[in-house]
Amino acid sequence: NISGGKAMYDILFQKGKIGNVELKNRLVMTPMGTNLANLDGTPGAAMIKYYEDRAAGGCGLIMPEICRVNEKTGAGMMRQLAATKDYHIQGIAELAAAVHKHGSKIFIQLHHPGREGVSSLIGGQPCVSASDRVCKVSQQETRPMTIDEIHQIVKDFGSTAKRAKESGFDGIEIHAAHGYLISSFLSPFTNKRVDEYGGCFENRTRILDEIYACIRENVGEDFPVQVRISANEYLLGGRTEADTYELVRHLDELGVDAIHVSNGMYASPVVRQIIAPMYTEHAFNMNTAEMVKKLVSCPVIVTNRINSPKMADTILKMGKADFIGMGRGSLADPYLPAKAKAGQFENIRYCIGCLQGCEAGLLAGTCATCLVNPRVGREYENPMDKTADPKKVMVIGGGPAGLIAAETAANIGHNVTVYEAG
Ligand code: SF4
Repeated sequence: NISGGKAMYDILFQKGKIGNVELKNRLVMTPMGTNLANLDGTPGAAMIKYYEDRAAGGCGLIMPEICRVNEKTGAGMMRQLAATKDYHIQGIAELAAAVHKHGSKIFIQLHHPGREGVSSLIGGQPCVSASDRVCKVSQQETRPMTIDEIHQIVKDFGSTAKRAKESGFDGIEIHAAHGYLISSFLSPFTNKRVDEYGGCFENRTRILDEIYACIRENVGEDFPVQVRISANEYLLGGRTEADTYELVRHLDELGVDAIHVSNGMYASPVVRQIIAPMYTEHAFNMNTAEMVKKLVSCPVIVTNRINSPKMADTILKMGKADFIGMGRGSLADPYLPAKAKAGQFENIRYCIGCLQGCEAGLLAGTCATCLVNPRVGREYENPMDKTADPKKVMVIGGGPAGLIAAETAANIGHNVTVYEAG
């Protein structure tokens, strides 16, 4: 129960629509890998509870992390969500139902890692990409996709989208950003092909057009399908903002239901990377998003380094976007939306852009953690149910561990006193 305080918002807590789906506010939890899925790609109890907590915290739209569409070359993480087979349907249906219980909507993000994958996750084969240019960060042997493989991947995106719709998801996001497979075709930095999938804009965009068309065949015209793009790769020879403006007009003409404006690929400079650190200015994609919004008829989501609800409302009020993506803000405090709505700004744990848990943790192969929220990934172990037997609790030591223990005990209904030597 979060109440009290006063909050002044013009737009953030107004309803919004993507396609025919109404969202209760303008806050979108953007996908962030957690490594919490089971090895077979089903979400499992820990992942479901993690996303349910974010829905309970009040986000209008939850977008879980990358979902695998192809088992042969498409694995992006060891413990990754998948919907490649019908046996995945039950688990992702439970995930969707857990989010729906709290009045939030849920879109699935369909993904193939391309050259930014890990060869050991696909049986030691080379990663597949638009061409053979190796990612300097992932450093995996890489080969160009064959035409047959491209045709198969297009079908895989379509069949995975169908399973997601059957499982109760409210929409689809095609991940065409960040240097992953589709992005590797869009970008002249990674696409060196000389066939119908390389060269001019029309050819580099062909795989995305075919994926979009196949998804539409599988989910129908009245189901939201949006596309995530990197507005700028910040690399010499890579996609620029000028490319983005051409691309979004094209996507709008195709009929996509929203454009999600992100940035970067793995090889981008650190201050402009996909998950930008604390020494990057806040909301640095907002002006590009505004230009995109001027060019398209569908809604625009903007993300990266937006961690405060007041900033989010200001960006909306300035007309720079229709929805605000907060991935790390939701890790740091799943209840940010509810606390913001109640005016409890001093109780929000803000993401500080340290990358210590959400990125470094994942790179180390553990599940995602967060420097300011020790519950991340452990929500299922610590469900925070109210105690039936309140006790007086003495916490000795007011350091981070003591204060978290005190807060946890108080939140589940105990009467807590903290003792600190100083
Ligand atoms: Fe933000 Fe740091 Fe937490 Fe990541 S670990 S969500 S950057 S506070």
